[in-house]
Amino acid sequence: MTKSMAAFDFAGLIAAVADTIAAHTDELTALDQAIGDGDHGLNMKRGFEAVRGEKDAIAAKPLPDALKAVGTKLVMTVGGASGPLFGTLFMALGKELPAAPDRDGLTAALGKAIEAVEARGKSQPGQKTMLDVLQPVYEALVRGRTGAEIADVADKAAEATVPMKALRGRASFLGERSIGHMDAGARSTALLVRAIAETAEDR
Ligand code: ADP
Ligand code: MG
Repeated sequence: MTKSMAAFDFAGLIAAVADTIAAHTDELTALDQAIGDGDHGLNMKRGFEAVRGEKDAIAAKPLPDALKAVGTKLVMTVGGASGPLFGTLFMALGKELPAAPDRDGLTAALGKAIEAVEARGKSQPGQKTMLDVLQPVYEALVRGRTGAEIADVADKAAEATVPMKALRGRASFLGERSIGHMDAGARSTALLVRAIAETAEDR
């Protein structure tokens, strides 16, 4: 994570992210079946396979435009509540990141992108959603953690949604019965974070 992100193989990053979503589609489906409607695995797979299908064209763009293109594609293809939210995350990252961001630039951009997701979802951390992974990841970046540490922070943060009561999204309809299951969007966010952090760490 120390070197300039401009050195990224963005096409490789897209492939890594799409691979991990494809490898965990059934797990995400099962998580969303427990306290949602079971579509999260296929929603995410459809979205990231669509991004993969355009990876070379996307990777040819400057990093901010590439991230915006990913976000736009996700909005168009993921669907559900999570499509606009993941789309907003990547579009806002693209809007906030300079063309060759350093770690501080990445951290600041993620902070702004989280605010954009919060505004879009009328949500905040603590409500058993993807934000419960994004916020600790942001804090780990602020503290200067390595990519490997950040990936572990993300996994633990997803685990930490198990005892939470859902206050946003479909799972909130279950009230207390949402307690005891991991949030699907938190898990998928942790998968994205690990893939991105490990790809970044390889540079
Ligand atoms: P849907 O809930 O429409 O079926 P998905 O199953 O694809 O959509 O996505 C569900 C995930 O979206 C949840 O697990 C949660 O992490 C996230 N989510 C839902 N609503 C919100 C919200 N208002 N703010 C943040 N994240 C949300
Ligand atoms: Mg769902």
